[in-house]
Amino acid sequence: MPQNEHEPIAVLERKVLAKNDEVAARNRARLAEHGTVALNLMGAPGSGKTRLLEATLDRLKGRPAVSIIEGDPQTDNDARRIARHRAPVVQLVTSGACHLEAPQVAEALERLPLSPGGLLVIENVGNLVCPSSFDLGETVRAVCVSVTEGDDKPEKYPAMFRKAGVLVITKTDLLPHVEFDLDKVTAHARALNPDVRIFATSATSGQGLVAWCAWLGALADSARREEA
Ligand code: MG
Repeated sequence: MPQNEHEPIAVLERKVLAKNDEVAARNRARLAEHGTVALNLMGAPGSGKTRLLEATLDRLKGRPAVSIIEGDPQTDNDARRIARHRAPVVQLVTSGACHLEAPQVAEALERLPLSPGGLLVIENVGNLVCPSSFDLGETVRAVCVSVTEGDDKPEKYPAMFRKAGVLVITKTDLLPHVEFDLDKVTAHARALNPDVRIFATSATSGQGLVAWCAWLGALADSARREEA
């Protein structure tokens, strides 16, 4: 049916979101069937999402098994980086769009191994606004904030932080060189979501990665138990 060209934009937006949510629910059901948990990893460009993933893959060494979807507006640079760590990866190029949508993830799921007790990480397009509106069918949302970005991110982007179950602070090895108030970020994130889990990490020094990887392992195990 052709769209009414005079239909208000707000209505169209709601329709897009409703369609997205339908597919997201199907993705969620499919992941549950396979006993796989999914993490929607978000954060600004340069917040260290890919670097965190690389360090995570090196530490997990296949336990749990991790499959990766990379979202990028233009290139497959990040998928190439991930492939070097021997994880199955599908690159989604959004041709400039600022977020991933559930149908793109549904397509990628066709091409990835999903195993019981496995973990799927979806690295979203670097952006702190758009991705928060689009459910992809994930189990948990995680948002990365690097210490080089400034400590007012939760204040400025409340929608993103309200829906995130996990906050990963990255690049903590640079703390001595930047003005970044860890307590302030933590307090603002907790004000928006009292249940948020917070990890302070550095992929360079390794700080916080043991706790982060242990949490991912427990998350993957929880899906395996549910499936059993
Ligand atoms: Mg990246």
